Amino acid sequence: MALLNKNFLDLSGSYLFSTIGERVQALRLAQPESEILNLGVGDIALPLAPAIVASLKDAACELGKNVHGYGPAEGFLFLREKILESQYEGCGLTVNDIFISEGIVRDICDIQELFEPKATVGIIDPTYPAYLKSSILAGREVHLILCLEENGFIPLPPDRHLDFVYLCSPNNPTGIAMTRDHLKAWIAWAVKHSAILLVDAAYEAFIKTEDVPRTIFEIEGAKDVAIEFRSFSKTAGFTGMRLGYTVIPNSELNALWRKRQDIKTNGISYPIQMAGLASLFGEGKSETTAQVALYAHHAKKLKACIEDLGFTCYGGIDSPYIWWKIPTNNSWEFFDFLLNELHIITIPGKGFGVSGEGFIRLSSFITEKTLDETIKRLKTLGVRLCAMK
Ligand code: PLP
Repeated sequence: MALLNKNFLDLSGSYLFSTIGERVQALRLAQPESEILNLGVGDIALPLAPAIVASLKDAACELGKNVHGYGPAEGFLFLREKILESQYEGCGLTVNDIFISEGIVRDICDIQELFEPKATVGIIDPTYPAYLKSSILAGREVHLILCLEENGFIPLPPDRHLDFVYLCSPNNPTGIAMTRDHLKAWIAWAVKHSAILLVDAAYEAFIKTEDVPRTIFEIEGAKDVAIEFRSFSKTAGFTGMRLGYTVIPNSELNALWRKRQDIKTNGISYPIQMAGLASLFGEGKSETTAQVALYAHHAKKLKACIEDLGFTCYGGIDSPYIWWKIPTNNSWEFFDFLLNELHIITIPGKGFGVSGEGFIRLSSFITEKTLDETIKRLKTLGVRLCAMK
């Protein structure tokens, strides 16, 4: 047998979403008539905005008229220029700092290629599972940075050296975003320890709180020590279209990533980049902003409903996710309760890390109809839920 990557064996047995899928399937088989509401996976619920569809169509027609071959590995200049102008005004970045990608999950994992195999990684917990899984696959020494309720779920810089740290703000699943002061503390820590901060800003469009920066590059010193990942998935409904970008102002890291891109990508399709461009200005910007606002409104209503039932929940302000403190310390048990009693799919907090136990995540990427029905069901079982406390 060829030598295989044994690090795969260190990944926990079953994939979170397949376990959830099996339990949902069991309910469907047992009660085929049931209407199951999906507040689990954070996937969009609204169709693409009209201005984006128009741009996509125009770009496709153009391909039928003129030859467009391979595009640049770092993405088309028109898109990078618009990103710079619309997202990073006053941050002192250049178009060369921006690399367009097929959505950021790949970049988030592959960015580890910039670091030596023995480089140590810090990972906040609970958080988006890709950081931990890709680190395990790379066979790295992982140091968990717990985001606990008593610290408002804010990750605090550790009292030790690490080579790089994944931060997610607003964090998935807690929905908590780091303020300017929190980010300043991380930058100071990174400077002191010659470390790199990998900042996943997939949900930046949801930020409302005043002292929460939209980008870490608003803060002095960040350009030397931070890499930021931004996605069109949740801001413009591109989960299926696939588009994102990674911003690397540090010249040494930028040069390495450029080499890597030259080897490993032949660019992203022209119509998709044109569609992304349409989301950044004019009608496309207004339409996608309205979509984000609708999801944010759903989050607010869900949060209010759960609080009215007498529970504590977090998130839902700078984020599309509600982090519900459940009345049991077994999030799979509560997941099953909501699934089987209310026919509502959620995600058990444990799926996001050890510190996620005792919570479940609800997604507000739902239609108005699903929102109303969810609230109706949660209210009818209010008494029963309270009895579980
Ligand atoms: N980062 C976070 C925190 C996410 O929650 C997700 C998707 O749910 C992603 C990244 C993936 O983004 P993309 O669709 O651009 O790959």
